[in-house]
Amino acid sequence: MVTFQRVLDKLGEYGSPADLDLLRRAYAFAAEGHEGQVRQSGEPYLMHPVAVAAILADMRLDGVAVAAGVLHDVVEDTHVTSERVSELFGAEVAHVVAGVTKISAIHFASSEERQAESFRKMLLAMVDDIRVILVKLADRLHNMRTLGHLPDERRRRIAQETLDIFAPIASRLGMSTVKNELEELAFHYLEPDAYESLRGRVESRRRDVEGAMATLQQALAERLRAADVPVVRIEGRIKRLYSIYRKLIRQNIDLDRVYDFAALRVITASEKDCYGALGIIHQTWSPVPGRFKDFIAMPRPNGYQSLHTSVISDRGFSFEVQIRTEEMDHRAEDGVAAHWKYKEGRIGEHRDEHYFKWMRQLLEVQQEIRDPQEFLQNLKVDLYPEEVYLFTPKGEVRSLRRGSTAVDFAYAIHTDVGHQCVGARVNGKMVPLRTPLRNGDIVEILTQPGHRPSRDWLTFAVTSRARGKIKHVLQAEERERSVELGRRLFEKQARRYDLNPKVLVESPGFATFAAEYGAAKPDELLAHIGYGKISAKTVIQKSAPPELLKDRLHDPSGQPRRPRADTGSPDRIKVRGFDDLLVTRARCCNPIRGERIIGYITRGKGVSVHAASCTNVLNLMVDPERQIDVEWESGHPEQAAYTVRLTMQVEDRQGMLAAISARVSEIDTNISGMEAQTSDEGRARIDMTVQIRDVKHLDRVIRALRGIDGVIAVERAVRM
Ligand code: MN
Repeated sequence: MVTFQRVLDKLGEYGSPADLDLLRRAYAFAAEGHEGQVRQSGEPYLMHPVAVAAILADMRLDGVAVAAGVLHDVVEDTHVTSERVSELFGAEVAHVVAGVTKISAIHFASSEERQAESFRKMLLAMVDDIRVILVKLADRLHNMRTLGHLPDERRRRIAQETLDIFAPIASRLGMSTVKNELEELAFHYLEPDAYESLRGRVESRRRDVEGAMATLQQALAERLRAADVPVVRIEGRIKRLYSIYRKLIRQNIDLDRVYDFAALRVITASEKDCYGALGIIHQTWSPVPGRFKDFIAMPRPNGYQSLHTSVISDRGFSFEVQIRTEEMDHRAEDGVAAHWKYKEGRIGEHRDEHYFKWMRQLLEVQQEIRDPQEFLQNLKVDLYPEEVYLFTPKGEVRSLRRGSTAVDFAYAIHTDVGHQCVGARVNGKMVPLRTPLRNGDIVEILTQPGHRPSRDWLTFAVTSRARGKIKHVLQAEERERSVELGRRLFEKQARRYDLNPKVLVESPGFATFAAEYGAAKPDELLAHIGYGKISAKTVIQKSAPPELLKDRLHDPSGQPRRPRADTGSPDRIKVRGFDDLLVTRARCCNPIRGERIIGYITRGKGVSVHAASCTNVLNLMVDPERQIDVEWESGHPEQAAYTVRLTMQVEDRQGMLAAISARVSEIDTNISGMEAQTSDEGRARIDMTVQIRDVKHLDRVIRALRGIDGVIAVERAVRM
């Protein structure tokens, strides 16, 4: 059992007095917190955090990491808050402990390789301080070492998770010692029979080979000495059980055919000597064709350097030889070179390599830097800044672009889920669809059959998949509406000439003009009218049969006949240069006669007219080509009446409503609705709907209301 004294001694070898003080205080605190708790083995719980701290001290990590190791379970398992940890041990320790607690809460539920890769990335992405991962790996390593005490089912689950997630992460970080031990332990618990049987076979083959290997080792040492190649040492090793097992399964071969079952490693004094040694080796034994690799001239993307070759011994069995310098060996073994991608038989994405390189430098730097501030700076990591990793309610992982929202997530699941998405629950809580998702969020999409995407979604959907699908639906809908609108405008115009619109649209002239205009079908020409690209009048003049038009457009004396007067828009707004565009007042700002107004050509809904002061106008005007000049028609202002809602804050007292309605009637104004609500502190809110002729009229009404005793504020209600 690891004692706390051993952790102190280890940290004392490289840490400062302040580090030791921190560690002592952390230990005392953890001892108190875990008081009375026992592990499954019956041992005091405290032995676990102490063992974790010992692993971290063996890695020569800093005082913060080792103290966090001692404290890593206090937040999760006792009633201590993160704030308390911060008060007592500083923000850094608290941050690392909180990070470990956060990732420990996630349970991985799938054994699909693609899912596992996303999950590994997610874990790394959730971490902004590499020490969180290092503490977590130490925690997992000690739990794996003591897994025997757990019930079988939990044992298997933890072992599988270790194999899928934590061993590869250790490998990616170049921590090959940790990775190897995790894999061997996981193999032992997951496949106990295969493990035992392989161990027996490997053991007997090892006995066969060991003597021969020793002889080879000696022979090689002599040859190298005779050739004057300086060698630091030669090591013999047997491949690990789990690597052999994977090789047997992957290649479906027998143990005898595993070439690198036994290997020699030659550590030379210099890089040049590596090639010298290789020459001697190939002179002494026959190389196996195709097995030589020069990772010195062409290092692996992760920086690993070594020469590899396989040769056939005098006794007929083959073995691998790795040749490298002390420094190369140090990097490969001490967690600076990760060969996980190579071993898994694939080439990583460029980005992975980039981050790996970065991580490797980080681990090197960690050994050298003593300035805590600089150290901290270097430990701030963001391994996958472009991506965010999310869970479905079933525990599947999806990766999306950073900044993605529930709508992006919905489309990532399925197009129909996207279209019909009406709401989202993140970590069990309802959130607005536009909320950006964060790493580790569990996202549940609420759908409603028949629901369609809204244009608004384009302001926050970020993935190209979601945006493409939304636009596609919107465009189809817009086109439908434009055809419909164009048809209505066309019909209206046709009637002004006493022409039958149906007959016109079906006439050959219409099709001919449509083709000339570049519209593939009559419907498309109608859509152009709806978009405001061409007027209905022009279309009639260009497409109606000339003999028909002659009749309608000219009176019997040959003078152009004026079409019947248009009843005009009920709102009395004119679009400059057009006489047949559909005009509607925007409901958000509800402009009234006399106000400054701006027209905006909508897709499919004619021209929408906003008050120049409307806040929506700014957003709409990003597309200046769709702006259009509009003005109030002159004459008969009293004919138009606009419904305007006013909101008032008043003192809550008797007779208030009566005073207001009397005053409004006095200035000849219709009230079409009134509603009062009492609020706090003796006040009330009154919502009133009035009929207004123009902006001057409205000003008069508002002034009159403000003049009433007890009225605190009057405002025109705006719909957003
Ligand atoms: Mn733990």
